Amino acid sequence: MHDFSYAAARSLEDAFAADGAASMPIAGGTELLNWLRLGIAAPERVIDLAGVAGLNAIAIDADGLSIGALATLGEVGEHPQVRAHAAALAQACLAAASPQIRNRATLGGNLLQKTRCAYFRAEAPLPWGCNKRLAGSGCAAIEGFNDRHAIFGWTEQCVAVQPSDPLVALAALEAEVTIAGAAGVRSLPVAELHLTQAEAAAEGLDPARAETRLAPGEVITGYRAPLRPGARSAYVKVRERASYEYALVSAAAVIELDAGVISRAAIALGSVAQKPWRLAEAEARLVGLAPTRDSVLPVLRGGFGEARPLSQNRYKIAMAAGAAARAIVEAAA
Ligand code: SF4
Repeated sequence: MHDFSYAAARSLEDAFAADGAASMPIAGGTELLNWLRLGIAAPERVIDLAGVAGLNAIAIDADGLSIGALATLGEVGEHPQVRAHAAALAQACLAAASPQIRNRATLGGNLLQKTRCAYFRAEAPLPWGCNKRLAGSGCAAIEGFNDRHAIFGWTEQCVAVQPSDPLVALAALEAEVTIAGAAGVRSLPVAELHLTQAEAAAEGLDPARAETRLAPGEVITGYRAPLRPGARSAYVKVRERASYEYALVSAAAVIELDAGVISRAAIALGSVAQKPWRLAEAEARLVGLAPTRDSVLPVLRGGFGEARPLSQNRYKIAMAAGAAARAIVEAAA
């Protein structure tokens, strides 16, 4: 364990005043402490955001749902208005972790967790190549165990997936993330917060290490999701055990119905790429269909034309299409 100092921020300005790359923010700590233990991060200073007032509120108004970054997964998942108006998000938060973790982990931190790739999550020094841990060292997963890795948007440098559950629900809900830094406050669609490896490469960034569009020193302060009248949603997570586990695949569906058929659909998939993956073409072709498994599944299967499965994860195509179909059926119900 690397030595570090600790400071409690009383305001966001305290956090921004910290000395750049040498400092890292901490909220619930359920992810950062793993990074410190494994040697994934070694900050000189940890800035605790837990005492910053006003960042844990959950509120609803005529325009939408607002959630502060310091709201815990448990608070979001059990909030009556989130359950009533954004069921997919509540379900994703409750499926995200054990109760103990949900009581500590924040919605801000959850979206910034790193991949669960087993080659990445090992204690330093690593006996294998991992470009995300050590640039230029290779990617052990390409020829190794890659059953849980990406089917969309990967490059030879990295095939990892982003594991957050709430991220997938927020993407389907078309939420915005609010970001603050020394230069001010800005927002962007949650679906654009992360980059796939291919997007990072296209932007001239390191495809293994560039994961989000956060600038150095910026922190997430909250989320805002529009609430469309009549919209209903659900989140389905497929995992190897029900108690707590990361997703093999997941799907969030937000649909609107008119006279018993789908009039609008937004589908986001999780654990298939380094960002939530929208099935944009399939969404358009779902309009006019009954929200039943038999009617939507062929359309959803047709949405995987861009998929490039690895040697061990072709199963994700059928599983993700099935999860999306189930999410539509559950949302309609
Ligand atoms: Fe490392 Fe990415 Fe390869 Fe996993 S997939 S070993 S995180 S480079």
